[in-house]
Amino acid sequence: MPKHEFQTEVSQLLQLIIHSLYSHKEIFLRELVSNASDALDKFRYATLTDDRFKQVTWSPRIDLRFTADGANTDRRILEIEDNGVGMSEADLIEHLGTIAKSGTKNFLSQLSGDAKKDSNLIGQFGVGFYSAFMVASKVEVSSRRAGEDKAFKWTSDGTGGYEIEAIEKESQGTLVRLHLNEEGREYANRWQLEQLVTKYSNHIAFPIFLHYEKTEYGKDGADSTTAPAIEQINSANAIWTRAKSDLSKDDYLEFYKAGSHSDEDPLFWLHFKAEGTLEYTSLLYVPKTAPFDLYHANYKPGVKLYVRRVFITDDDKELLPTWLRFVRGVIDSEDLPLNVSREILQQNKIMKTIRSGTVKKLLNEFSRIQTDETETWNEFIGAFNRPLKEGLYQDFENRDALAELVRFHSSKVEGLTGFADYQSRMQPEQKAIYYITGGNQNVLRASPLLEAYRKKEIEVLICDDEIDEIVLQGYGKYKDLELKAVNRADVADELKTETDEVAAKEVAPILERIKKALADKVKNVVASSRLLESPACVVTDESDPSFQLQAMMRSMGRDSELPEVKPILELNPNHPLIVGLKDASDETLEDTAHVLFAQSLLLEGAEIPDRVDFVKRLNRLLG
Ligand code: ADP
Ligand code: MG
Repeated sequence: MPKHEFQTEVSQLLQLIIHSLYSHKEIFLRELVSNASDALDKFRYATLTDDRFKQVTWSPRIDLRFTADGANTDRRILEIEDNGVGMSEADLIEHLGTIAKSGTKNFLSQLSGDAKKDSNLIGQFGVGFYSAFMVASKVEVSSRRAGEDKAFKWTSDGTGGYEIEAIEKESQGTLVRLHLNEEGREYANRWQLEQLVTKYSNHIAFPIFLHYEKTEYGKDGADSTTAPAIEQINSANAIWTRAKSDLSKDDYLEFYKAGSHSDEDPLFWLHFKAEGTLEYTSLLYVPKTAPFDLYHANYKPGVKLYVRRVFITDDDKELLPTWLRFVRGVIDSEDLPLNVSREILQQNKIMKTIRSGTVKKLLNEFSRIQTDETETWNEFIGAFNRPLKEGLYQDFENRDALAELVRFHSSKVEGLTGFADYQSRMQPEQKAIYYITGGNQNVLRASPLLEAYRKKEIEVLICDDEIDEIVLQGYGKYKDLELKAVNRADVADELKTETDEVAAKEVAPILERIKKALADKVKNVVASSRLLESPACVVTDESDPSFQLQAMMRSMGRDSELPEVKPILELNPNHPLIVGLKDASDETLEDTAHVLFAQSLLLEGAEIPDRVDFVKRLNRLLG
């Protein structure tokens, strides 16, 4: 038998695969099934394009056979057979003895010797066949190329070289026979094989048949007998590859439910094929209700990546931006290398393009639903407003589109509203979008900070979601409209009138005394132009974190990152309580100052520094 040496790179690669991909050894089946599927794809193409094959009747199939682990260890065998295009002698030498892909040598020269890193690198290259040696001590590949008479068998133990001999083979195609080693013996098992096929190859477009011994239990204590059985173990149906017009609503629903392990219908879905420089198909679903782990740091991503119908991963958080983590479904790329590893995916240019194209498509769909399908839109925004807001904060590329989708409560309208609608209701003189943030909608609506806005009929967005504050601060501007928090010191300037200034002058001496009384508790005490009915309120300086943000940081145990923040106390210069302090004794003034300060803090949802002191002063005043 002629003996062939492996190309040096192949030997190195084999060693590497066996030793570093070892923890993922089950992928050998995915690789071999995928090769079988490729071979079927190739022959299918030939039946369409090659005159020699146009007339043949052919049922593409993949067959898995095994002999279970008997006493004789030589009999632990697993076979993967296809009736695809097959390989000639030259093909066997070229494809299973050398690494043809350009760049592979370059890759080998980059190997670091660090097993973990290298096993990641390896994923980029089309070398899946060699993974068979992780589970087999000997691999035989018998093949007859379609249209040729001669068949050949390639045999190797994965060390050094391989042998090729002529054989008789009746059917075209390839039979890969694995002599399973200790690591691989578990795969000579019906359930293992079924499970792996379901996991990795369910949507291979060809039927995969598993051959096994079926046990028939005898009636009335008679001996049980076994009989050979064959069962198709994949669905052989990549629904996303089919034309939309071929698919019924039920097809879509069934696929969603199978994939999401749930009984609930999705809210809507989006099925599209991108063609052009890159080709990929996406079938993406938006669930009706938010996934339970939407706000867990270790949420499970919902989109599976396929490359040419072969499952690659369902655990890659980078396939879509995190704010789209509620989306479920499949992305199937024609261009990615089949063996692309997760680590490499993240920097992969093709993947980046697919990702950004898919996000755009989804955004368009969200926007279409917003305009066309009120009911669906309401459910959608009810469930996913918050992740969309995260997107507004994180996803610079898509900010403009996201800004049209996010919703807030408002001081002027019922229910939720968006920036565009707010803008359409703005006062002629108004130059900014105003918002107030805090934990409780009712408290916010009653806040003294809104009084002047109400009087001038300026709408204020009521932002009671805890992430609103960072999101709006981060976003900063909608079109040319600045977003302004009403609890910030500088905002009131725009609301000032001349009478305010007169009144302010009059109470200046009182403010001076109050400031002294509160001493180091406040940053400043100023006359307010935003208060109508209330005597006082607190705001934070532009450069300081707001009360909500402070509370959030504290709840996350990040107190140490907070600077020492003092609020600004604003007093209503027209309020009788303030004006009446003119002739107050030092003691009354001091008590009033502390009580006003404390109640303003309470209304902002902030803590009072000293409750005992507060109650004591309040009682003194009441007395
Ligand atoms: P890739 O599939 O990415 O090309 P592999 O290492 O899995 O890399 O396979 C190497 C090559 O061997 C394939 O490209 C194909 O030409 C050939 N090959 C492997 N398995 C089969 C098969 N079952 N039928 C025909 N050709 C095969
Ligand atoms: Mg392959």
